[in-house]
Amino acid sequence: YQVKARNGGYLMYEAGMSERHTRSIAVAQRLKLALTDGQLALHYQPKVDIATGQLRGVEALARWHDAEWGWVSPGEFIPVAEERGLISALDAWCLESAARQWRQWHDAGWAEVPTIAVNISAVEISLQDGFADRALALVQRHDVPPSAIELEITETALMCNAEKAEKTSRRLVEMGFSLAIDDFGTGYSSLARLHKLPLSRLKIDMAFIANMLADVGSMAIVTAVISMARALQLRTVAEGVETAEQFDTLRSLLCDEVQGYLCSRPLPPSELEQRWLRRASRQEAAAAAPPVPT
Ligand code: C2E
Ligand code: MG
Ligand code: MG
Ligand code: MG
Repeated sequence: YQVKARNGGYLMYEAGMSERHTRSIAVAQRLKLALTDGQLALHYQPKVDIATGQLRGVEALARWHDAEWGWVSPGEFIPVAEERGLISALDAWCLESAARQWRQWHDAGWAEVPTIAVNISAVEISLQDGFADRALALVQRHDVPPSAIELEITETALMCNAEKAEKTSRRLVEMGFSLAIDDFGTGYSSLARLHKLPLSRLKIDMAFIANMLADVGSMAIVTAVISMARALQLRTVAEGVETAEQFDTLRSLLCDEVQGYLCSRPLPPSELEQRWLRRASRQEAAAAAPPVPT
């Protein structure tokens, strides 16, 4: 970009621009490889019932460890994937890995196999054709019922091509997937439009949760969103809950679920198993598969 200099000329900042450009191209190239050679993983963050403390589901979040660069944050590689045409492949990879994980937990005899929420980018829901059919084929290939998967779609994605998004959403729900609206409060969706969509959860953006105890405006938004969602019979999830004060306030506002560092960070599958999933009792397990004498 250009900045007017004191002497009336322009200072060019091409150096900074091309650096960012070069990095973005490099990230895209490596991400393409990472998608096929196992450098990506999913971590799972619990959504917890605010009244009972029980696990209500997990959100799958992509994690990328590059051999040379170390951890690359989703805050960097998701936008690059969106800009450089890799987001559909990434979302498909996430959906497939989540389905595989659900099948594995199911077969391993965990008593509480959580619903897995997967993030879906705006491109799938609002621009591309056939996402619903591809998603269904993919979960079926892993013998996973669509009801085990929730798709998280951001408010802005739903608004950018509302008609198409509405159609795709209906197809997905008819197939048995459930839908959550992600980062709610950051877009400008109208109530009238929102209640036309077959949503089951509304996730309040963490910016409002972070500010709610210090800023009356944020508190007013959180309060209004929860009461509106309740009236529409949507479950509310507060994102980014980090403190006990936030938790208590949300409980008094009748929010349904919380997700955030207070309850748990996103965890690799083995840690989620240890800390959150309950094995079927010994008796149940024995009844299901009597031990074979050797
Ligand atoms: P999101 O879907 O809103 O996910 C929640 C983000 O909040 C995650 O960041 C999570 O690690 C973070 N978080 C959860 N609890 C707390 C907390 O208490 N405090 C703070 N400060 N942060 C918390 P993450 O994993 O960095 O992901 C960022 C965004 O990248 C996600 O936002 C989602 O939009 C996108 N993303 C991640 N994985 C995927 C993916 O597989 N596909 C697509 N399309 N997007 C993805
Ligand atoms: Mg999400
Ligand atoms: Mg979110
Ligand atoms: Mg977000």
